[in-house]
Amino acid sequence: MDDADQPLSCPSAQPDMVDAHAFGIVSGTAAEPRIAYLKRSAEVTPAMMAELGDLDPTRVFRFSARCESSNCAQFADGRCGLGERIAAQLPPVVTALPSCQIRATCRWHEENGDSICFRCPQVVTVVPPELTSLARAATPPGLVPTAAGEAGLPAQ
Ligand code: SF4
Repeated sequence: MDDADQPLSCPSAQPDMVDAHAFGIVSGTAAEPRIAYLKRSAEVTPAMMAELGDLDPTRVFRFSARCESSNCAQFADGRCGLGERIAAQLPPVVTALPSCQIRATCRWHEENGDSICFRCPQVVTVVPPELTSLARAATPPGLVPTAAGEAGLPAQ
């Protein structure tokens, strides 16, 4: 299947979603997390999850998965509201386009262009409470940011 034929992927996914792959490793610090993008994304397998033991997988990896579009709480007006808010509210944190394996199908990139990729490395799925800007960006309109919010958590 050509990339053009593939469904768009969510770049802030959970490992139990359809077509889940790990594409980045959470590094940096709690106050200043940074994603280290993997040279090859890795399909989520039971063995991968077992190796993590008691660790929350989303504290170790950034996952992509099939975008759930209108089944996700972040989806509004035909696009991803989370990506839109990150592009609008968060500052760039890198000056070069990250070498990211999912760009061809990434919904955030499809809808916001390269500018969101300069902001993307600061996005972690489980948002530490001190990251108020990210917590605010992760929260759909009308909801209050939680102490430890989750960026991109789809509706179940
Ligand atoms: S926004 Fe850019 S850097 Fe982030 S996952 Fe999508 S393509 Fe990769």
